[in-house]
Amino acid sequence: MEKIPVTDNHIHVDHINGEGPLEVAKKFQRAGGTFMIIPNKPTWTAGESSNFQEAMEQVIGYVNEINANTDVEAFAVVGAHPAELSRLIKEGVPLKKAEEMMRDALQTAQGLVMENKAIGIGEIGRPHYEVSSEELEIHNRLILYAMELAVEADCAVQLHTESSGEEQFSEFAKMAHEAGMDKHRVVKHFSGPMVLQRENHGLTPSLIATRKVIVEGLKKGNNFLMETDYLDMSSRPGAVLGPKTVPRRTWELLRNGTLTEEDAYYIHVENVEKVYGIDLGF
Ligand SMILES: [Zn+2]
Repeated sequence: MEKIPVTDNHIHVDHINGEGPLEVAKKFQRAGGTFMIIPNKPTWTAGESSNFQEAMEQVIGYVNEINANTDVEAFAVVGAHPAELSRLIKEGVPLKKAEEMMRDALQTAQGLVMENKAIGIGEIGRPHYEVSSEELEIHNRLILYAMELAVEADCAVQLHTESSGEEQFSEFAKMAHEAGMDKHRVVKHFSGPMVLQRENHGLTPSLIATRKVIVEGLKKGNNFLMETDYLDMSSRPGAVLGPKTVPRRTWELLRNGTLTEEDAYYIHVENVEKVYGIDLGF
């Protein structure tokens, strides 16, 4: 079997709390990985009193480090995680001010995309935990705003949200429509096998690379991405899938005939190129 490129669409690296970019990239590469799409982590994991801009620049630094020193090609995605808003509110920042700070952060993210330092805005969205209706409204306004910024910058958006079924996908698709955004470029990170158009309403699901989810997804089609959501945190080693999972899963499913080479190529190259508007050179 020819070597097929493999992309992890959502993998974190962290030199402060984990092994850092080079170790993670090398593990990924040894397992057969080719491309890593790396969103920045929240400000509180990016170093003491780090701000939004610093957290975003940190991930761009990681990406440059990987690209200069390994055979993996990495890309940054930059944004303000929804938990940042919750944290600001908890710290006593007034709602209006907190929303303003989040909007500023999203503008910073857009600027970095326009400078070609990142390929998308994310992870942005709304929390996976319950919040007040006032806070939820702000999150929804911020999602719409991030999509508007993405339209201007001609880039993708990666959404972090509560666990989402058809109803949530439909809601995000409506927001994309309102923002004038191509729905295919709205990526639902940490998705279940929401591969059918009637399930995802045109959004791109990034499937968590467990055997169960990927096998289920492949029964419906190939219009998805694959990810681990690896955190690179030594304190939470088993919190999510390890950095080798996407290449390993891909090869396992190719070998046992569940995944065809054509589908693998679509998932790991063509769809990535379409969603992010990049050329992977394959
Ligand atoms: Zn993440």
